[in-house]
Amino acid sequence: MVAREAGCSCGQLRLLAEGEPLRVSVCHCLACQRRTGSAFGFQARFPRERVTVTGDARDYVRISDEGEPRTFRFCPECGATVYYVLESAPDVIAVPVGAFADPAFPEPHVSVWERRKHGWVLPPTRVEHVS
Ligand SMILES: [Zn+2]
Ligand SMILES: [Zn+2]
Repeated sequence: MVAREAGCSCGQLRLLAEGEPLRVSVCHCLACQRRTGSAFGFQARFPRERVTVTGDARDYVRISDEGEPRTFRFCPECGATVYYVLESAPDVIAVPVGAFADPAFPEPHVSVWERRKHGWVLPPTRVEHVS
């Protein structure tokens, strides 16, 4: 089974995800823009039982644009978010794909909140669009 390692900027907080992700998405919502400092969020969900976390993390609970609490787990040393959990899906761990630092990571198949999308961003043509 494939295993991928994600980590924060300083390497203190790490995560090993075994197997392929359940869902790979990009999200253009304003909260994702603020969290990432980028034009959109890019994240993958894995079953909780296939994820192993090592290192210290702090929590930040943010209310999503849909009104749902999401708990972000970040490194207290460098501040990078390595994973988060959704109240609506407690059995999955969501990982910001950038934390894998892997350009060969599977491409997104879902694109969310496109009405908040920056005009220059072109989602992959085969993607499923979820407003
Ligand atoms: Zn760190
Ligand atoms: Zn979002």
